[in-house]
Amino acid sequence: MGAPELLHHLRGAGLVLTLTPAGGLHVAPRTALTDDHRAAIRTERDALVLALQAEAEQPPPPRRSGNPLMTPEQGDECHTGGWDDAEIDAFTSSQARFTRMRRAAHADHLAERLTLRDRQHDDRRLCLECVALADNRRCLVAARGRLAGADRRLEPVPTILQRCPGFTLAPGLR
Ligand code: SF4
Repeated sequence: MGAPELLHHLRGAGLVLTLTPAGGLHVAPRTALTDDHRAAIRTERDALVLALQAEAEQPPPPRRSGNPLMTPEQGDECHTGGWDDAEIDAFTSSQARFTRMRRAAHADHLAERLTLRDRQHDDRRLCLECVALADNRRCLVAARGRLAGADRRLEPVPTILQRCPGFTLAPGLR
């Protein structure tokens, strides 16, 4: 049995193997150790240490965002590789606008969703990003009769990604 298999076997027996700060091997709980375990650990000690060191050097899995507007897979995609400066700036600008637009409860989640949208080169937009969305939640373009087929009292759902011919990006966003 190689070290990875032995590690798996020992963990399956309820043992926790960790590296000590000095690079040694610590096994717990002692009460779960059988004579066979002790013999196998003694024989494979160095290989087990190397296997644990290799595990410790693995990059951490992508952070799951917990964003209710995204699936766990979308959350992973959104955070893979970390965010660059442009993404952080865009997130901060969107978050600030959504908070101003009385969407504070979801500002972070919406702004994070837009980070993924931009990573995917998706050209859809939220009404929340549009300069025409008024404080009373109505669309000013529709109110002027310039949105074909729309009622002048249109109150669009502001958090749905869509393509709208009346869209104009609000100042400060990108
Ligand atoms: S113009 Fe279109 S994108 Fe802008 S607020 Fe009106 S419906 Fe939304």
